[in-house]
Amino acid sequence: MDTCPKCQSLLQIGTSYMTFENDDTPDKPTVAYTNLPMICLNKECEDYGGENVFKPRVVVETVRNKVN
Ligand SMILES: [Zn+2]
Repeated sequence: MDTCPKCQSLLQIGTSYMTFENDDTPDKPTVAYTNLPMICLNKECEDYGGENVFKPRVVVETVRNKVN
């Protein structure tokens, strides 16, 4: 698990979503990624993501993983 760089609290994973590269270019193979928004849940922290991890106020970092 990652920790918040500002307050060292454990980060919560929000809603993952997919992004694609080259999906507008027929010449190159499309690359898919899953993106995991990491959210700080420490209310004292200036990067506090808010009550709703599905709609965070601040995303501390996004972990991107290649799917294919
Ligand atoms: Zn924090």
